[in-house]
Amino acid sequence: MGEFELIRRHFQHATDPGNAVVLGIGDDCALLQPSPGHQLAVSSDMLVEGRHFFPDVDPEALGHKALAVNLSDLAAMGARPLGFTLALALPRADIDWLAAFARGLFGLADAHACPLVGGDTTRGPLNLCITVFGEVKPGQALRRDAARAGDDLYISGRTGEARLTLEHLRGTDWAMAPLSDETRARLERPTPRNALGILLASAGAHAAIDLSDGLAGDLGHILSASGVGAEIDLFALPVAPALQALPVAQRWECLLAGGDDYELLFTAPPAAREAIATAATSSRTPVTRIGRITAEPGRLRLLDANGLPLALSLRSFDHFAT
Ligand code: ADP
Ligand code: MG
Repeated sequence: MGEFELIRRHFQHATDPGNAVVLGIGDDCALLQPSPGHQLAVSSDMLVEGRHFFPDVDPEALGHKALAVNLSDLAAMGARPLGFTLALALPRADIDWLAAFARGLFGLADAHACPLVGGDTTRGPLNLCITVFGEVKPGQALRRDAARAGDDLYISGRTGEARLTLEHLRGTDWAMAPLSDETRARLERPTPRNALGILLASAGAHAAIDLSDGLAGDLGHILSASGVGAEIDLFALPVAPALQALPVAQRWECLLAGGDDYELLFTAPPAAREAIATAATSSRTPVTRIGRITAEPGRLRLLDANGLPLALSLRSFDHFAT
């Protein structure tokens, strides 16, 4: 199978008329038409075998995740997806592998009306890079530098299950209980929060980031970009049943420094509480208020049930210790 046959067979996929794609796969460039007066939001994420996924990963899950992590960046910006490109290096043209990969990829792409509009295909060690394009109204993007002292701090969903799964797959002694399919899916098939992200922009949210490296570390990016501090009410954090059996230190590690969660962490002024609750309901996304933004630049405090600072020493946020 030649390169063009491979592209035609696996990646040329009927796109929805009425979307932003004027010209899709097949020419030297794709042509996209954003809605009048909107800004283009662009983001790339690369997935490398051995670093971001195991060599024997289920190709369908990989197709899903490669796009999910990119859609999550659009969600964190409050941007609506328009389309994406796929640059793919493959060691060989394995038809079954490609078919499964494309199933996972287009399953998610179709669900988000985000068509594949182009890309590049070459032989080489397995490596994929997706670039997503989205649109957002001027002034509505949820930037990392937009948090203000006094804002509430929220997360969507819950954190930690992806990390727990990773420890299982690595064979560490973290969790004795067997892994449920639901927990495992949190690592392998994350759900990007695009419906919520789009609504947050108009609900009056200020700053947002998607959680790829762990809650505390990613919050640090908002704090430094915005020149503010934060308090997290540890006991407000939603805890998945699978984490409840963990020793307490490992549970905090999963919740606060887990990584690969692809939930949204965002801030909004208290006046927006009702609008945020409505956005959560309309997008059918659980949202929890977990703390607040403070005025002290860069300072993250973790508060116990009595509102007293707790000194947790977890690798990824040691430098935030109180
Ligand atoms: P060029 O020589 O201009 O790089 P290619 O021959 O690589 O073009 O690609 C031909 C067409 O197929 C282009 O429209 C390109 O965007 C598309 N394409 C190539 N690889 C992929 C892929 N993995 N997924 C989607 N479209 C692809
Ligand atoms: Mg090319």
